[in-house]
Amino acid sequence: MEYAEVLDNMWKEGKKKGAFVFRKDDILTTPYRALVFTVLSARAKDENTYKVCKRLFAVADTPGAVAALGGKKLQNLVYSIGFYKAKTKKLLGMSRMIVEDFGGEVPGTREGLMSLPGVGRKTANIILNREFGKATLAVDVHVHRIANRLGWVKTKKPLDTEKKLLEILPENLVRKCNRAMVGYGQTVCLPRNPKCKECKVREFCKRVGLPKTS
Ligand code: SF4
Repeated sequence: MEYAEVLDNMWKEGKKKGAFVFRKDDILTTPYRALVFTVLSARAKDENTYKVCKRLFAVADTPGAVAALGGKKLQNLVYSIGFYKAKTKKLLGMSRMIVEDFGGEVPGTREGLMSLPGVGRKTANIILNREFGKATLAVDVHVHRIANRLGWVKTKKPLDTEKKLLEILPENLVRKCNRAMVGYGQTVCLPRNPKCKECKVREFCKRVGLPKTS
């Protein structure tokens, strides 16, 4: 029960405070758009990824349309994101493969997704969860940090956090966990100086690794 209450409170509070993980929903209206966003967002700020995606989607927002742009045009549209040259290559390769091997539709299986250039385990987990309703869990820096602070897991690596959370959380909460923790991590349980005094789940939190007084 505690898990449900914590994730529910985190979800509501993150949404109320305008966490970016919820705000970007307005442009992520198809699995392909969500996939492009996730690939572009690697080592980039969500706000910047959002701007770049808006610019790109105004011109092309399907695998066929992005593949047809070619490298130069695509690079000009995404140049303001870090590692834009490598990401352009990934987007092109991914889009071509979706057109050629998957009939233009983003595959809804881990195997299919991970066969696409530039799509690793975390991206596949995000897309399977968000777009296909699967009980997968993408563990990013927020989920890893917060799960450890709460004392739900005691792990050094994100993959171990994922395994442990999959063990302890029921399926419906696995689906909710990423967005709840990412939203809370963007607004309250910040990487540095978490706002513990105004935290809605403090009574459930062991605050592992944090000073007693904050
Ligand atoms: S009490 Fe502090 S460390 Fe624990 S979840 Fe809340 S903000 Fe994060």
